[in-house]
Amino acid sequence: MTVEQTHTEKETLSVEVNIPGHAPRKTTALFERTRKELIEREGGRCFVCNATAGESGHPPEAHHHPIERSLAELIDWDRFKADALAGVWGERIRAFDWATFTSWEQFVDDMTVNGMLLCKAHHIGKDEGIHAMPFPLWIAQKYAKEGYQFSEVEVIHHAT
Ligand SMILES: [Zn+2]
Ligand SMILES: [Zn+2]
Repeated sequence: MTVEQTHTEKETLSVEVNIPGHAPRKTTALFERTRKELIEREGGRCFVCNATAGESGHPPEAHHHPIERSLAELIDWDRFKADALAGVWGERIRAFDWATFTSWEQFVDDMTVNGMLLCKAHHIGKDEGIHAMPFPLWIAQKYAKEGYQFSEVEVIHHAT
């Protein structure tokens, strides 16, 4: 088989990084409130495939993006804030209330700025989810041609 033909790319990734000690995962009131705002803003639709809960069969999930909650304590927040204010992460993050920012939870758990709404598959699914594959493969699904057989488990479909 040559690269000119559709071919299966099998990546075996072994990832080993140091996660700082962090408080056990918890759901804060801020997360709960802003998760609902995110769902409302996005019309309940997945960032990748546009599916609603009814179309995907599962409630939409709020993914922490760009900063993962478990990694918040390794972040140098002055560096992140400088990029945020420079617009590197887009208008919503630039416009966040950085003036009163004193604790990382204020940003990390605010799903209106650090949230991405995903269907369960595009969140954690094998060969589909952002937590389960390299970013270049993952993001291609958002722009892939309708009907393309992306993987064994997925034919590209953009809900409308
Ligand atoms: Zn999806
Ligand atoms: Zn996630």
